[in-house]
Amino acid sequence: MNPVALITGASRGIGRGIAMELAKVGHDLVINYAGNADAAKQTRDDCVKLGAGKVHAEICQADVGVAADRQRLVEFTRQTFSRLDLLVNNAGVASRGRLDLLDATEENFDWLMGINVKGPFFLSQLAAKWMIEQRKSGGDGYKPRIVTVTSISAYTASTNRADYCMSKAALSMMVKVFAARLAEHGIHVFEIRPGVIATDMTGPVKAKYDALIAGGLTPIKRWGQPEDIGRAVAAIAQDLLPFSTGEVINVDGGFHLRTI
Ligand code: NAP
Repeated sequence: MNPVALITGASRGIGRGIAMELAKVGHDLVINYAGNADAAKQTRDDCVKLGAGKVHAEICQADVGVAADRQRLVEFTRQTFSRLDLLVNNAGVASRGRLDLLDATEENFDWLMGINVKGPFFLSQLAAKWMIEQRKSGGDGYKPRIVTVTSISAYTASTNRADYCMSKAALSMMVKVFAARLAEHGIHVFEIRPGVIATDMTGPVKAKYDALIAGGLTPIKRWGQPEDIGRAVAAIAQDLLPFSTGEVINVDGGFHLRTI
């Protein structure tokens, strides 16, 4: 029986990259998306191909910011696969309008925090409770993991997207508290902190980052690709870091080195 991964926001971008790398290492997949069913189906079909007939993948629409949708997403996973080995909290949204923080609105703040913070927190809670149940029957061979995708914005101040930066800083602490709480149940919890990755999210600021990367923003002078994040998640999924939890894995071309 394959291990099962539930990846939020896996229709496009980083989530899709994670799904593809997990398919390569033999995980069955629940590919969550918000509205883009065609992209989700494409990811599903590509993952099944990569899995060479051994991987089962399903799509499930759900808005991670909505409690009933989170319940439905976990229930779908239970009904379809009867198990969950890995939750990847990847879905996230960028700051609406990239407004200067003096112009930021409460409406945008609540919307973004609902998806970027409240969603992963309560989805992790649901997943953790189910994983604890499964651990009781599955024994030591069952090694559940929770991975959350944050950002270099967790510690880098951008004054035109305060809400986004604050959401990623909050997620970073979320990883620590879940890691501390769940270790006794054999559930290990990780933060993946991407740098600048080529996806639809960064499409509108491509020219800006092209110039910054060429100018030395990161020691490794290239855009990150969704596959770079996917490989880090696949390493965790394959239990290559068995004595770590609460760990931050920077996948950022060395941005965090803060070179001068
Ligand atoms: P993206 O290209 O905009 O893709 C976003 C994905 O999330 C899509 O699959 C989208 O589904 C889904 N999604 C959006 N809102 C959702 C919701 N409410 N519920 C469920 N799914 C939802 O973004 P990305 O660049 O891949 O970013 C993925 C994660 O990485 C985010 O958490 C982001 O903050 C983080 N990150 C990105 C970068 C970067 O440079 N790109 C850097 C650091 C961190 P639909 O296709 O259905 O819309």
